[in-house]
Amino acid sequence: MTCCLPELSVVIPVYNEEENLKELYSRLVAVIGKITPDYEIIFVNDGSSDNTQKILLSFAERNPSVKVIKFTRNFGHHIAVTAGLDYCRGKAAVIMDADLQDQPEEIPRLLDKMAENYDIVYGIRINREDSWFKKLTSKFFVAILKRLTNYNIDINSNIFRVMSRRVIDSLASMKETDRYLLGLISYTGYPQTGIPVKHGKRFAGKTKYSFTKMMGLFLNAVTSFSVKPLGYIGVLGILVSLVSFTAAGYLVYRRLVLGLGVEGWTSIMVTLFLVSGIQLLSLGVIGAYIGRIFTQVRNRPLYIIESITEYPVTKR
Ligand code: UDP
Ligand code: MG
Repeated sequence: MTCCLPELSVVIPVYNEEENLKELYSRLVAVIGKITPDYEIIFVNDGSSDNTQKILLSFAERNPSVKVIKFTRNFGHHIAVTAGLDYCRGKAAVIMDADLQDQPEEIPRLLDKMAENYDIVYGIRINREDSWFKKLTSKFFVAILKRLTNYNIDINSNIFRVMSRRVIDSLASMKETDRYLLGLISYTGYPQTGIPVKHGKRFAGKTKYSFTKMMGLFLNAVTSFSVKPLGYIGVLGILVSLVSFTAAGYLVYRRLVLGLGVEGWTSIMVTLFLVSGIQLLSLGVIGAYIGRIFTQVRNRPLYIIESITEYPVTKR
């Protein structure tokens, strides 16, 4: 039934973005309408507590191409995008944020590049309009990620991208709970490239990505794409053991051969702090992996949908 499938889906995660939605909707429809009349826009309301749902429903009432998925609570950015991708039916899909930092006007260029036989085309933000803190932390995170994984994740790319149906289908088969979507998309291995895109300032409101959420995403990214940190613990253990054995040998030598008593409260305390610090750090790293294994084996659904609205009204 490919005749009835939309040419293009646009998936947008939304969390308390009431001030941005009208501007986003009008700019997006103006752009997409020129590309194809056969599109769908899927807004995923990730547990917003403001007027987001009301505004989204007003778009759906006006425009049958708009669909609104409402989560029961806040499940997180990458989970919201996952739900939109699971639900979308387009031959290709654009994913973008709702705050107009990703510019709808750049979508045609992403699609043009895709026509050159790419399955994934992501935007590379040339003029990144984020706070210095966000830029610094994300540079730091991506630099570490690149060292730990073999994936080529562009330091200036975010979620804004277009991908083909076969990428969307591959993603649907990846059921991991602690999701790092950019990594998963890259993992599919389909031909991918990036093009420079304009990046805007957040149109209104404040970032919905707290530092804790960013850290969570970073840990998800590391743990789901690399086991190197576990290897590093092993190396650290070997190094500390070598130093300890050498120090122990030296102390025994001092005592037995030179006849000098063991002295030094300071050295004992320093060693104690150092070793317990290393042990706690190692436990933390192991804990991060075990916690994620635990979450995964519980096998709960990734998200819970309260309602899906499409007009003419169909509730699934
Ligand atoms: N978002 C979401 N769930 C969350 C946090 C954010 O769906 O728990 C959405 C948010 O509404 C926006 C996108 O994800 O559309 C990116 O969030 P934001 O712009 O606040 O992140 P930043 O650009 O500051 O990193
Ligand atoms: Mg943003």
